Amino acid sequence: MNEKQNSKAQNTQKASQKPNPSTQKASNEIIISVVVPLYNEEDSILELGGKLEKVLAPLTKNRYEVIFVDDGSTDGSRAKIRELHNRNSKFHCISFRRNYGKSAALQVGFKEARGRFVVTMDADLQDDPEEIPNLIKKLNEGYDLVSGWKKKRYDPFIKVWSSKLFNLVTSWVSGIRLHDFNCGLKAYKNVVVKRLNVYGEMHRYLPVLAHWDGFKVTEIPIKHHPRKYGKSKFGAGRFIKGFLDLLTVMITTRYMQRPLHFFGTIGTLITFLGFIVNLYLIIEWFLGKTYLSNRPLLLFGITLIIFGAQLISIGLLGEMNIKSLAEKVNYNIKDKF
Ligand code: UDP
Ligand code: MG
Repeated sequence: MNEKQNSKAQNTQKASQKPNPSTQKASNEIIISVVVPLYNEEDSILELGGKLEKVLAPLTKNRYEVIFVDDGSTDGSRAKIRELHNRNSKFHCISFRRNYGKSAALQVGFKEARGRFVVTMDADLQDDPEEIPNLIKKLNEGYDLVSGWKKKRYDPFIKVWSSKLFNLVTSWVSGIRLHDFNCGLKAYKNVVVKRLNVYGEMHRYLPVLAHWDGFKVTEIPIKHHPRKYGKSKFGAGRFIKGFLDLLTVMITTRYMQRPLHFFGTIGTLITFLGFIVNLYLIIEWFLGKTYLSNRPLLLFGITLIIFGAQLISIGLLGEMNIKSLAEKVNYNIKDKF
């Protein structure tokens, strides 16, 4: 072996002794990040922390983090989280100065989460940490988002039934067959939460947003418990807002790139109907049957035409808008090679 070859061999030997950065990274990697949005849940936090530790430590070989997002609580929630943090530094807390809502809390938690998998759950002990392994198992089968389905639900009667209707309509409009869209307990691959943009009250539609962004979404039945402490922060009264949000979700996912297809289709149909109505009146008038001034139907026909034309114009304005934003569109790329 000449000198050059020799030094080369030594170099390779040295290189193999050095820890490989990629394997080193893998051994420090956080496997699961749990994101818990909470607003005034002081009584549940210590109990929840204990349960999470018990499930996560063996499941991840201690490679986990729990991020509590304190959504402007005015009770002792933050102090309770501090107590958990002092005992176990894997528990973290992000506190808002005011109450922004569950969507905002999730969004901030999502941006912070470092884990390969991200699990969200409510802080009120209604969701069971023991379901986390089942959710992760399903992710490992190739899904990107696994949503909990509260098959047997422990909530007030009115809420259970209004929520059934909500889920039925959402499933029908969005084209995803899920029983329970708004379950607090969900698991995601990290890439999904980094792409989601949760604002307003969009947390109800996370599976829809992920589905329309090209991710594989499914659900599994999970155990649910009655609320042990405190009161629910959401009543059945949010219903109308929830359905308005469904409209927003549909227009900003399916039709974001082609507003004229949405407004133009409805507008064309309505205008066409108006023409038919007026054509009928004109034919009658031609045949000398009645004066048009005697026909209230005329006003109806004209209104349809004007309304339809307005919808088409709104669609065209939308197209002008999207053209100027087109270069900012963020396509979801699976991989490249
Ligand atoms: N929550 C929040 N911000 C709010 C309202 C609620 O972070 O403005 C949290 C709440 O503390 C709980 C979760 O969202 O951890 C679900 O809320 P809740 O249990 O009141 O809803 P329900 O189970 O009754 O639908
Ligand atoms: Mg609850």
